Amino acid sequence: MNDTPIVVKDPAGSRDNEIRPFAIEGMDVRGRAVRLGTVVDQILKAHDYPEPVAKILGEMLTLTAMLGSMLKFNGIVTIQTKSGGPVPMMVADYELRDDGVGRLRGYADINAEVMAQYGKNPSFHGLIGSKNGYLALTIDQGDDMERYQGIVELKGETLSEVARNYFENSEQTPTEIRLRCDHDPVTNHWRAGGIMVQHLARGEEGRERLLERNTEEEWNRASVLMHSVKTEELLDPQLTLDQLLYRLFNEDGVRVFDSVALVHACRCSRDRLLTVISQFSDDDVDHMTVDGKISVNCQFCNSTYDFTPDEARAAAEEAKA
Ligand SMILES: [Zn+2]
Repeated sequence: MNDTPIVVKDPAGSRDNEIRPFAIEGMDVRGRAVRLGTVVDQILKAHDYPEPVAKILGEMLTLTAMLGSMLKFNGIVTIQTKSGGPVPMMVADYELRDDGVGRLRGYADINAEVMAQYGKNPSFHGLIGSKNGYLALTIDQGDDMERYQGIVELKGETLSEVARNYFENSEQTPTEIRLRCDHDPVTNHWRAGGIMVQHLARGEEGRERLLERNTEEEWNRASVLMHSVKTEELLDPQLTLDQLLYRLFNEDGVRVFDSVALVHACRCSRDRLLTVISQFSDDDVDHMTVDGKISVNCQFCNSTYDFTPDEARAAAEEAKA
């Protein structure tokens, strides 16, 4: 985050696929607004997901971008859910490298048989939270830093609620979040958006207790204003994030910080998948060979990589050596 904030006077200039950090003037309230256009459309369209699953994955990508943009160093933030329901696993990750761009990817694993039992409009809980569902947040900042993992039960009617509970319980930071993913009514492309505010007062050192009552009132005001955001506003391509923030918080004054650009980028490659194949036995290689080749699919981006059985065996030999 840049240390020299820009005061929003003439809101313009923000666009799709970005995260805008902001602060409300004079309050201990910080926040983030996210808008995803082509990034979420590409990720969701790589697979043929049932509509309700695609929407939750779109929200999870938005949440992952919000959390990922809090990384101070290069690293990877992963959000993963597991359950015994129709979506045994859903995962989204965000990678930050030296170029400062946030790389997003994600996919959902679906059990079609179980899915069919849940009817046309399955609930959030039914889809990803049922049967001991949980959500894990992992922050991996390389070998020099300790890996962090937090786990929360998937209780709640929406992913926003689960995330809110996570911050409240695991981080003791009062947080309000709204997430949304839906089709653009004009183009039918997927879009996603989200906004979160956090109350930082409790975590601040040296703060006088006398001010606590004031800051509680300020926090309530900030949460009410944030929740006044309309679903359409979170997704509207005609409304920039700066315009949205101005609309919500202009009476109190909102400052925005440098935005983070987001791209859809998978980390799969021929070399990586060859490493996976190198673990297979000769028998496995025989079983997987169809029409003289072994096709391996990347679960994230759905790209297919073809290998010859000889390549697979050579890789296995090399791995043993
Ligand atoms: Zn991939």
